[in-house]
Amino acid sequence: MKYPLLKTELPGPRASKLISTDHEFVSPSYTRVHDLVVEKAKGVWVHDVDGNIFLDFTAGIAVCATGHCHPEVVKVIKEQADRLLHMSGTDFYYTPQIALAEKLSSLVPGGHPMKVYFGNSGAEAVEAAFKVARWHTRRELNIAFYGAFHGRTMGALSLTASKTIQKSHYHPFVPGITHIPYAYCYRCPYNLFYPDCGLECVNWVEESLFRTTIPPEEVAAIFVEPIQGEGGYIVPPPDFHSKLSKIARKYGILYVADEVQSGMGRTGRVFAMEHFDVVPDVIALAKGIASGLPLGAMMASAEIMDWKAGSHASTFGGNPVSCQAALATIKLLEQSLMSNASAQGEYLISGLRKMQKEYECMGDVRGMGLMVGVELVKDRETKERANELRNSIIIKAFHKGLLLLGCGENSIRLCPGLTVKSEEIDVCLSIIDEVLRDVAW
Ligand code: PLP
Repeated sequence: MKYPLLKTELPGPRASKLISTDHEFVSPSYTRVHDLVVEKAKGVWVHDVDGNIFLDFTAGIAVCATGHCHPEVVKVIKEQADRLLHMSGTDFYYTPQIALAEKLSSLVPGGHPMKVYFGNSGAEAVEAAFKVARWHTRRELNIAFYGAFHGRTMGALSLTASKTIQKSHYHPFVPGITHIPYAYCYRCPYNLFYPDCGLECVNWVEESLFRTTIPPEEVAAIFVEPIQGEGGYIVPPPDFHSKLSKIARKYGILYVADEVQSGMGRTGRVFAMEHFDVVPDVIALAKGIASGLPLGAMMASAEIMDWKAGSHASTFGGNPVSCQAALATIKLLEQSLMSNASAQGEYLISGLRKMQKEYECMGDVRGMGLMVGVELVKDRETKERANELRNSIIIKAFHKGLLLLGCGENSIRLCPGLTVKSEEIDVCLSIIDEVLRDVAW
């Protein structure tokens, strides 16, 4: 079995030197959880500049869907780079972008063809969704959720309500956005229990919000992550999206699914919303779509995407190299990686749930496919958040060669490349177990 291999102290000498140069010249706004300077990566294994080898359960923040540098993705990137790097889909046509739009449209369940707008990132996909919703509905108000992360450009950031540091000193934001509680059942905002709650968090929208605060006929869209990502890998109850989207439809409000983190096979289906039997009006995609090349996509039906030439565009959006990488990614997802995500996700969750029996601090283990979160608490009864413990688990795992990221205030996310094998999950679980034996209760 392959294990992480640490040859130096962390960071090693070359990494330390590079990090100090980075601190001199690179923007200090990045979070930078680990002192890791990456040299190369393959599958779920990452090599740093000092020759240390790490097991990567971050996939570059849920981006490298096909694992790092999948040979078939790299091959099409090289071939496309030889043919055409850029021409701008804004003013010209080229085959990879057309082919990708057609393919993405065919992936929408239930024979609901959609048109595709291409950008370069998740935030751009969300911005495009925001703009098309205004354009199509001619309405000014929008709804988003506490805990939501939709990106950091001003429109997307206005919809975001994840951490105040992301919003500090940037006010005022785009007006007309109301944030409401998400279906975070582990910490129900109404102190109720599913299913006895009758989905009070959804009822409240119609019975209270629309009666007292915002007129529904002025709301353009509800922006929602099928599973909250940065907010803590929070999986809502099975009927949450269907009930909420029905209310949206009743009032002509667009249901916009931000699938930037949850989409592209990560949960075992192309779109996480498929698990909830909902076809959204608008879909935002990015991250895993092109296995690491920058690409964002916003999809909507032809009826909704009725904006006129010149109303929205981006010079680099839908770059031909990224589009080829996306086509190769989708092929691999369809061949085997989505089913691998389902199977390995179950394996990972069951391993963590076994561990949860031993460690009191593992308050909640949740997820779908390879979008898996563990919420750390000081006490199972009070559910007091164990933020420092969470941080120390991530750092200690790094020093044992396992790369993890946090999400929410006190959760760990596990989102490896969808190529991950059960032996690699075993290594991940045994490192987490070792770390917990050290620090947990
Ligand atoms: N939407 C969701 C759900 C995300 O998780 C993210 C990034 O984490 C974004 C949007 C923003 O994507 P990007 O960082 O590519 O702009």
